[in-house]
Amino acid sequence: MSWTVGFSALASGISAEEPILALLAPRLQTGGLAGEPGYVPTVIVQDFFDFSLYLDIDQADLEVWYAVPAPAAHRVSRPVVLAGDKMGTLLAKNADVLVTMDGHRRELKNAGLFARDGMIEKVGPTAELPATADLVLDLRGHILLPGLVNCHHHLDQLLTRNLTAGQNTNLFPWLQAHYRVWASRTPEDTRAAALVGCAELALSGCTTVFDHAYVFQNGCKVDDQITAAAELGVRFAVSRGSMSLGQSKGGLPPDDCVESEEAILKDSIRVIETYHDPAPGSMLQIVLGPCSPFSVTADLMRESAKMARHYGVHLHTHLCETLDEERYTLQHKELRPVAYMEALDWVGKDVWYAHAVHVNDAEIRLFATKGAGICHCPSSNMRLASGIAPLTKYRDAGVRTGLGVDGSASNDGSNLLIEVREAMLLARLKMGLLPPEGPQTVLSTSDPLRAKEWLTAREALEIATIGGASVLGRSDIGSLEPGKCADFFTLDLNAIAYAGGLSDPVAAVVFCAPTGARQTVVGGRLIVQDGEIATIDMAPVIREHNRNAARLAALDV
Ligand SMILES: [Zn+2]
Repeated sequence: MSWTVGFSALASGISAEEPILALLAPRLQTGGLAGEPGYVPTVIVQDFFDFSLYLDIDQADLEVWYAVPAPAAHRVSRPVVLAGDKMGTLLAKNADVLVTMDGHRRELKNAGLFARDGMIEKVGPTAELPATADLVLDLRGHILLPGLVNCHHHLDQLLTRNLTAGQNTNLFPWLQAHYRVWASRTPEDTRAAALVGCAELALSGCTTVFDHAYVFQNGCKVDDQITAAAELGVRFAVSRGSMSLGQSKGGLPPDDCVESEEAILKDSIRVIETYHDPAPGSMLQIVLGPCSPFSVTADLMRESAKMARHYGVHLHTHLCETLDEERYTLQHKELRPVAYMEALDWVGKDVWYAHAVHVNDAEIRLFATKGAGICHCPSSNMRLASGIAPLTKYRDAGVRTGLGVDGSASNDGSNLLIEVREAMLLARLKMGLLPPEGPQTVLSTSDPLRAKEWLTAREALEIATIGGASVLGRSDIGSLEPGKCADFFTLDLNAIAYAGGLSDPVAAVVFCAPTGARQTVVGGRLIVQDGEIATIDMAPVIREHNRNAARLAALDV
């Protein structure tokens, strides 16, 4: 077996690619260098463990960030570190405010946390933390928050942001303008797109990325996204999604954009068995994600659910996104979308849906009773004129609720902190509408009887952190507590955007215009340092990605 291994030597002060490659080259027993100009170097080796022994490192600062099989066949888990085989300790101290999102929703002043090997050991006032660590972050003037959890995205759509043909349409014609372009992308296109998307998310404070990948043509495999996410360093969950119902069989996508169900199910087994890591602290989990009621068959939905439950992986799909979808299931299945899901055994605690805009009260109660979760995607819903999801009703009913940027072609951005703000604003807009679009009342929004309807800044942050963790079925992320992953981000409270708003710094993060993360840490590792991606030189990736996007935009498909 051969392995692709990515390195970082940032801690040693070696930041350019050349010295690192020069350091590694004489030590390679087999294989060749595969680093691309400007990227964190990668090498291909035949046996990773022999290689790591061979490398064994008096260069104690040289770390292996990831080791993934090339082409396939092993599990990616926590980043492997050569030096002493541990990630060391991290001390974040002196944060003006630290938001824990723990059970008491504590907010601590002049505080920080101490982590070892990627897991938090202590959270508290700086004076009560250990005095030093291998990596120390002095966060004076900053707020420290749990890493945001993104519950719905399509990283490959970074290639078609702002495509002219899809600028002014709702979902169905928008999809029809994009399907063939997405199906034309290559594995190399996908890699650059996923790097850009994960980087953009990390710069907005996101530490866990779920990617709903579902278009696999032209040699593309979900392995492309997996490798890129590992390279960037985010915690990752990804669907082996699918489309199987082409136009000739009554579906929306063109026939040449869908796969056979036999191939989908076979590859789903491969992907789960190769990659899924359910352990606490896992860096990679697999989800099965048939795309939508109008692009897969009932058989594939049922078989996917059976397979997911056999392997203990979760299920995800788009649901109740538009009224067109509702008309589709009523016409083709004689059921509303949620009733259709129920008929397919697709309402349960191992399932979450993207959007869930057009639901009635009984359907919300069903989600709550059966434990199904939803991912709210405010920008996408506004951009495509899909409607406004009943976010506060979901929360009141006890439905697990998370937040997602959705695909970068229906949002044109991958900034999760913007979504936090928009979730709050959109819930308030819905509150102000009249029946039947708004709440079943004509009482003024200032009426005390409606006081509880106001979605607060803290509730919006809760949805994006601990809420998202719950939607993904994870209890090891979403809050800053001993025993949880050291996933967090910081914002500079001296930024112009917050000036004058610091009587309540936590609410300022949501009410004021979003700023970029100064530091983003995933599993105790710096992914964003001083407002820049620290793991990869992004400039050449952006250039390559722009070339790829221009090529796809020029296609006549
Ligand atoms: Zn989507």
